[in-house]
Amino acid sequence: MGEFELIARYFKRPTTRAAVGPGDDCAVLAPRAGMQLAVSCDMLVEGRHFLSTVDAQRLGHKALAVNLSDLAACGAEPLAFTLALALPRVDPAWLAGFSSGLHALAERHGCELVGGDTTAGPLNVCITVFGEVPVGAALLRSGARPGDAVWVSHAAGGGLGDARLALEVFRGLVALSGDAFERVRRIMEMPEPRVALGMALRGVASAAIDVSDGLLGDLSHLLRRSGVGCRLHTEHVPRSADLAAQPQALQRLCTLAGGDDYELVFTAPEAVREQVLAAARDVGVAVTAIGRVEVEPGLRLVDAHGVALDNDWQSFDHFRT
Ligand code: ADP
Ligand code: MG
Repeated sequence: MGEFELIARYFKRPTTRAAVGPGDDCAVLAPRAGMQLAVSCDMLVEGRHFLSTVDAQRLGHKALAVNLSDLAACGAEPLAFTLALALPRVDPAWLAGFSSGLHALAERHGCELVGGDTTAGPLNVCITVFGEVPVGAALLRSGARPGDAVWVSHAAGGGLGDARLALEVFRGLVALSGDAFERVRRIMEMPEPRVALGMALRGVASAAIDVSDGLLGDLSHLLRRSGVGCRLHTEHVPRSADLAAQPQALQRLCTLAGGDDYELVFTAPEAVREQVLAAARDVGVAVTAIGRVEVEPGLRLVDAHGVALDNDWQSFDHFRT
């Protein structure tokens, strides 16, 4: 199977929202009047972002999910995406799985594959997403104000840190029952981007970011961009029953610096508390208040008894040695 047959078989799908889809030199997008394009790009590299043993269908899902999560953080509605793919070999079973996971998530979000590039090389998946947001309505990192509440999204009954818990099991550092492992592994491999929540928070949240590298690190980016600080209640950070059954140090590592959560952390004035809860209820996602924005820069952590904790959890950084 050659390059063009491969593209036609696995990646070419009819498009309706784009003016021109795959097959020409450029895709042509048609954002609606009064909308701005929100654009984001994320690359997944084998051995860095995923294990070589990961199921192809789940990888297809995750490659798009991490990009949709960036649109969610901006309150943008998915429109289209491009796919740059490097493959070590043409493996029809792998391509069928990968493309089915990718297209299934794309269809759920009305996000059309409009082009890409396909080449031989070490397995690498790079997606660029395009979303629409009403002019001036994009949620940014820079809008948090002193007095705002800090919220985090999560699945009902779930929380942050399950993806990291799964990684620790893969590393052999933690043991879980078979059922619990399958659950957290699924969360690590098939994150659910909070697109509907991001859109529902337009005009409600003052600032937002998605949690990809760990809560404290990503929240710190938001605080710095907003020129503020915050007090964060570490024990208010939601967690699943499986994680809550682990030693406290591991719970804190996973919830505060876990990474791969793809939840939204956002701020909102106290006056819109009910609107935040209503937005979350409308889209079927849970949200929990975990702290408060303060004038003084920095992140101050307090435990369940109000006792200050050192912030010695580092979030993920590819180039830190
Ligand atoms: P060009 O050489 O003009 O960059 P290519 O020959 O690389 O174009 O690709 C041919 C067409 O197939 C283009 O429209 C491109 O966007 C599309 N395409 C290539 N790879 C993919 C892919 N993985 N998924 C979707 N479309 C793709
Ligand atoms: Mg090309």
